[in-house]
Amino acid sequence: MAGLLRKFVKAWSEVPVEPYSIVIDDRPVIVNFRRNSRAKRIIIRLTRDATGVAVTIPKNMNASRAQAFVEKSVPWISKHLKQCAPKTVLGPGSVIPLRGIPHEVHATTARRGLITLDPGARRILVPGDPRHLSRRLQDWLKAQAKADLTEASARYAKSMAVDFKRISVRDQKSRWGSCSAAGDLSYNWRLILAPSHILDYVAAHEVAHRQHMNHGPRFWRLVLTHCPHASTAKHWFKSNGAELHRFTVSQ
Ligand SMILES: [Zn+2]
Repeated sequence: MAGLLRKFVKAWSEVPVEPYSIVIDDRPVIVNFRRNSRAKRIIIRLTRDATGVAVTIPKNMNASRAQAFVEKSVPWISKHLKQCAPKTVLGPGSVIPLRGIPHEVHATTARRGLITLDPGARRILVPGDPRHLSRRLQDWLKAQAKADLTEASARYAKSMAVDFKRISVRDQKSRWGSCSAAGDLSYNWRLILAPSHILDYVAAHEVAHRQHMNHGPRFWRLVLTHCPHASTAKHWFKSNGAELHRFTVSQ
């Protein structure tokens, strides 16, 4: 009997798991399963064309456990699909979320002049040689980021009674900000593409490191005392952070 049961369980757990489709971030994602007798644990990865996921499951894992794993992995899938989404190159006609509000990049016919904002029409007006538009726009966005981050950092330094040295704004791949032991603050220019309260939180976070060079309870207490929206902002990065990395000056 036990032998028969074992045989039955074995046969049942080795049946293929049918592929299916789930909707993540308003788009269908195909989930394909593959059994691998050598797999020690369940493994999920994006397909090469980023239209679905391939799930490798160990020999004896049943379908419902494999599907439950996929359910649990939805945030992971969402994050990685966003990273694979086509890049938005800063150029005429591209729409970029300036301070979290979509603005269209518009090349004007003026030969020279400064980049200006047309807030009513939500447009960023860029004069000059179109060949240099992308680079000029990025410089402008960096300058906007630096202005906002300098204001926010100074405000938090005052309320937390600390100081800092230099502020630099860079093209960082993974970090949003950092604070050196010497007191230099460094920020990611893409923060200008996030809503203002998000940029504001990153400034509060880095300035708070002037008092605590760690992420211990005292550090978080300081951040939350001065920036009560810190938890909301941290949560925002989890679901939207990868999206900001889609913006680039070149393909
Ligand atoms: Zn930190």
